[in-house]
Amino acid sequence: MSRLMIIGCGGVASVAIHKCCQNSEVFDEIMIASRTVSKCDALKAELEGTTSTKITTAKVDADNVDELVALINEYKPEAVLNLALPYQDLTIMDACLKCGVHYIDTANYEAEDTENPAWRAIYEKRCKELGFTAYFDYSWQWAYEEKFKEAGLTALLGTGFDPGVTSVFAAYAKKHYFDEIHTIDILDCNGGDHGYPFATNFNPEINLREVSAPGSYFENGKWVEIPAMSIKREYDFDGVGMKDMYLLHHEEIEALARNMPEVKRIRFFMTFGQSYLTHMKCLENVGLLRTDAIEFNGQQIVPIQFLKALLPDPASLGPRTVGKTNIGCIFTGIKDGKERSIYIYNICDHQECYKEVKSQAISYTTGVPAMIGAMMVLRGDWKKPGVFTTDEFDPDPYMDALNKWGLPWVVEENPTLVE
Ligand code: NDP
Repeated sequence: MSRLMIIGCGGVASVAIHKCCQNSEVFDEIMIASRTVSKCDALKAELEGTTSTKITTAKVDADNVDELVALINEYKPEAVLNLALPYQDLTIMDACLKCGVHYIDTANYEAEDTENPAWRAIYEKRCKELGFTAYFDYSWQWAYEEKFKEAGLTALLGTGFDPGVTSVFAAYAKKHYFDEIHTIDILDCNGGDHGYPFATNFNPEINLREVSAPGSYFENGKWVEIPAMSIKREYDFDGVGMKDMYLLHHEEIEALARNMPEVKRIRFFMTFGQSYLTHMKCLENVGLLRTDAIEFNGQQIVPIQFLKALLPDPASLGPRTVGKTNIGCIFTGIKDGKERSIYIYNICDHQECYKEVKSQAISYTTGVPAMIGAMMVLRGDWKKPGVFTTDEFDPDPYMDALNKWGLPWVVEENPTLVE
């Protein structure tokens, strides 16, 4: 019996909201608050009559702390689920602290304006100190630890699939399968086909910023950074088949490296087809992935934001995407003095997701764990003061919920390892 405010009404939020409405026992009241209120109203109209969850909608600019505070104080939720963009993480955390409500998100903070000198000075210092150059990192949100602790509030960071479920898989492997984990390879495979020459499966701006950045992995206590897409492997994925995959920097590596210091190497791989990579390289070469503003016809435009306006809306890919995703983690280590390796993964079918919630599997595999993370906090399974990632709690209730709410997983012993 609880009340949740969900901020954002895009691809991921739409799935999380459908799932909250299937789970009215926990989410008996939700508010959908976003920049474009007509999208919230349309989703409310679609869901009303199919659920006993009471839905309210509102317009909010999540960059504006005062506006957020006024809305939270008016609606009085127990928690806010941030499914807007990583740019809004800090303003929403500030508003939650001011109003005394818990905070949940799916992606770590990233600055929208990477040319801002104040942000850039901190970023450049961090690049030197830590050794990776991604625009997103946990330091901004981990800095809220004392504030959330003092306020007696929980901030649960990164409860999507990756990050999110992948870190729960790590906690589960550690709890049930290993005395010591030595290596973790996170493999994200999308075998789906949407029929467009080029489109991204979630917010194009965030997605292209992530995949065009240098790759990195964590080994023997240090970050190793490599040029973008310069480490390639092939893997035969259950349910999908043979795919090329490339090593990327990814946020859960940072949290797992901090929270499981005994692990010697952590890597993240994502599959891409050659056509996607060729398009991306071309867009990068002509300057369309730039995140700084340029002047055009007397107006300031950010090239990557202009590109977003040209590309298909990820939320529109649902009906036309066929195939499956396979996302999971391969762990190696020691159990009872013997070497052991396991692979925990989920296979998700794009068309099955569309039938259920009118979304493709990328939004589905993020939106379901977002609902589950909110449920963990609201039900009290994962409620303690401070700022946490999903590997820092008991994984068992979350793993049960994945099976129950549409993302069943398997554990395979002795999988093929990645070279
Ligand atoms: P979308 O672009 O589809 O949706 C974002 C929503 O946020 C839109 O409804 C948008 O409003 C709203 N929004 C943006 N800015 C503001 C603002 N200032 N105030 C209020 N609302 C705002 O993105 P996705 O649904 O694809 O992604 C949502 C989040 O999920 C992102 O943070 C992304 O990084 C994360 N993600 C995490 C994954 C994981 O596995 N952990 C995987 C995929 C995504 P409008 O409708 O007006 O544009």
